[in-house]
Amino acid sequence: LAELRESADALIGQGPDSWDRDGVIPDEVVREFATRGLLCAQVASRYGGLGLSSADNGEFTAFVGSRCSSLRSLMTSQGMAAWTVQRLADREQRAELLPRLARGGEVAAVAFSESGAGSDLAAMTTRIEPDGDSVVVTGEKVWITAACYADLVVVFGRHGSGSAAVVVPTSAPGVTVERVPEPLGCVAAGHAVVRLDGVRLDAGSVLGGGEFPTSLLVTTALSYGRMSVAWGCVGILRACLAEVTAHAREREQFGSPLADHQLVARHIAGLWTAEQTATRMCAHASACWDARSPDAVSATVLAKYVSSRNAAEGAASAVQVLASAGARHSHPVARAYRDAKLMEIIEGSSEICELILARHALGAAG
Ligand code: FAD
Repeated sequence: LAELRESADALIGQGPDSWDRDGVIPDEVVREFATRGLLCAQVASRYGGLGLSSADNGEFTAFVGSRCSSLRSLMTSQGMAAWTVQRLADREQRAELLPRLARGGEVAAVAFSESGAGSDLAAMTTRIEPDGDSVVVTGEKVWITAACYADLVVVFGRHGSGSAAVVVPTSAPGVTVERVPEPLGCVAAGHAVVRLDGVRLDAGSVLGGGEFPTSLLVTTALSYGRMSVAWGCVGILRACLAEVTAHAREREQFGSPLADHQLVARHIAGLWTAEQTATRMCAHASACWDARSPDAVSATVLAKYVSSRNAAEGAASAVQVLASAGARHSHPVARAYRDAKLMEIIEGSSEICELILARHALGAAG
């Protein structure tokens, strides 16, 4: 893990500040991450991946998340694409696709959302229609992270009486990728609208043949995404904590360091508590994941819910303590503030997580 961190750190360097300003991560950094297996380090070694456990991949995700949430977002999408292939594809599709995603240098995005289907993914209207040996994909997906960098998009849509996930090359005729202008945060994550205008593909592009219940498809992909976002939020909290403790020790007002003023100390205690709580929630969810426990689904939702809320609150607190010193658009705490807010929206908003957790609690209570 230390080696992976070092290698990621060397590639990231001082980039995140300017990547955030320019809204783009240099292609060579993205490709190096992709060819070194760093975008989806949990893929098993038999498919060419680094084969990390969920716990180790989580710590690595937190490390990258502490440096740059945009790059961490690319890891979330790639990992989600690989996990979807792992769970839904047949043996031949896994053997073909996983090595490409693991270390083949290709970048992938995952597309569920549509303008009329955000929280309610059962409302998706994208069609994946068999036609002889082909399949034809028609629809429009919105806010697709990593799409501006992607070679492949795993697209979810209606298929027969159920739903399916189909692997669409962005170079296929009929695919258009249009960048989302001025996102609030994760500015360099390459969010885009992906239009699919009668895209004709080999029928073998449909993972596992399709016709899965929508809820199964969505829960499968989102589970990985939620875990990844949750660990990414731990990273945001660690970055904020480092900035806040350094600043509060050095900066003096009213004749003493900010850290000695008790109302500032309360911010520091709150931020540390937020980081510790989020870390433990994520570690528990990853332990469930690694043990293949049936509790993994609810533990992952809980980790995502707690970590994203803690990160949004913690980042706001960090901006408060740094005050004018952090009030510059791409300062790490200002970036954290913008990035963290979005983490409460994606992969199941806080409200959707609350509905799932309430159902779980009602079920557990009998
Ligand atoms: P809506 O569904 O319209 O919800 C609006 C508000 O109402 C929210 O607060 C929501 O919690 C609340 N709400 C909705 N229904 C209920 C309910 N039943 N009970 C209580 N509250 C409710 N999508 C992809 O497919 N792939 C991606 O890679 C991707 N990346 C994204 C990255 C970013 C930065 C963002 C902002 C979005 C991304 N999305 C992606 C889309 C994201 O998944 C959706 O934004 C999210 O699911 C919420 O949908 P919505 O924005 O349409 O909000």
